[in-house]
Amino acid sequence: MSKSASAEPQAPGATLFGLMSSLLDALDKPLLVTDRSGRVLFANLHAQNSVQWDAVADGAQPNLFRDVLHVDAKGLFGQLEGGEQEVDLQIQCGGAPARARIRWLPEPDWLVIFAEPAPNEVPADQDQMRQTVHDLLQEREITYRNLLAAYLRLQEVNRQKTVFLGSAAHELKTPLAVMKGYYDLLLSGSLGNLTEKQRDILQESKHSCDRLVRLVSTFLNYTALESGKLVLQFQDNDIRDCVNDMAVRWKEAFRRANVHLDLILDEKLPVFKFDYPKIQQCVTNLVDNALKHTPAGGKVTLQIQTQFWERRISPITPTKERRAGKRPQPNSILVSVTDTGVGIAAEFHQEIFEDFVRVDPSSSGMGLGLAITKRLIQAHHGKIWVDSEPGRGSSFKFLLPMKVEVYSYA
Ligand code: ADP
Repeated sequence: MSKSASAEPQAPGATLFGLMSSLLDALDKPLLVTDRSGRVLFANLHAQNSVQWDAVADGAQPNLFRDVLHVDAKGLFGQLEGGEQEVDLQIQCGGAPARARIRWLPEPDWLVIFAEPAPNEVPADQDQMRQTVHDLLQEREITYRNLLAAYLRLQEVNRQKTVFLGSAAHELKTPLAVMKGYYDLLLSGSLGNLTEKQRDILQESKHSCDRLVRLVSTFLNYTALESGKLVLQFQDNDIRDCVNDMAVRWKEAFRRANVHLDLILDEKLPVFKFDYPKIQQCVTNLVDNALKHTPAGGKVTLQIQTQFWERRISPITPTKERRAGKRPQPNSILVSVTDTGVGIAAEFHQEIFEDFVRVDPSSSGMGLGLAITKRLIQAHHGKIWVDSEPGRGSSFKFLLPMKVEVYSYA
């Protein structure tokens, strides 16, 4: 193989050759020149250092076509003489695949071979990399802004939907109250005696009206909670009164459904501060649900007792001595509504407390009762959960602290 540079320029031709080879050595790519036989006429420094040759048998002459390009010389020349400007082949350069671009110089009948990294081996230079990172960041910024705009639009649509729901419910409230009043008046008999059939029809209509009233009140509560307009009235109240107030209505509904209702109210339930109508609504939601999902002949138990509730986020870690000592004083009220109904599969135990979630879409309801209950309980600094198994009934429980403490999360 020829050496690339001649160190001692003696004749003008030799000087020129030396100059040329120095220039070609300065190229940052391997360059080779060969004749038609495959003999290398020139290889710049890069080519000498990086182009990989196959091992040559003892005494044999190295041949570029056979040992580097691995190509049939005749075929290659055929392509180039046939008019192809350049033929690309793959070779090994510096231990990595490289692309050899081969051109033909017809006058001296030589081939010039430039080698360059194969396209997928091109190292991304820093500028290119910086540009790519910049483009990606810009793309991410645009996506983020689009997402934010879409989110704000959705939020606005959602707000409008809530406002609409609230005003529709509000509009329905008065006519429904009037209808309910007339049903009561008719059923009282003060406008004249009723036949058995008339009474049954009126009773049925009144129950439907009651359901509508409850639905409208659910929507009103939901919209008030959604728009942050709900203000709780914390006052000293007796939770027993709160439950007993509803007992007559529940007893009638349970009698009609042939489901037994048990009320177990702890004797020592203290008076504490809570929003009376809101907690009444929470208990009613749970009792109504239990009745709805318990077949005739079943049983629902509403139990209220005091309980010691040790919050995990309590800033004071209880000492071992305190745990081992006498039982801690109750600090909260535990309300549980247990039924012998259809039960709920474990995967829905969290989900049913979300807005508009119903396990059985064929059952009546809007999937809002538990969502509202959960928010109201949380607004009282309490918590709600369910224990249930399909076919084995459900037990919905909530805890209300008797004294609302303010915890520091810092
Ligand atoms: P809805 O007004 O539709 O009853 P809720 O939020 O009160 O909505 O309840 C959500 C879903 O949870 C119900 O659709 C029902 O599938 C399930 N669920 C609630 N309570 C019970 C229960 N006691 N037994 C079985 N399923 C229940």
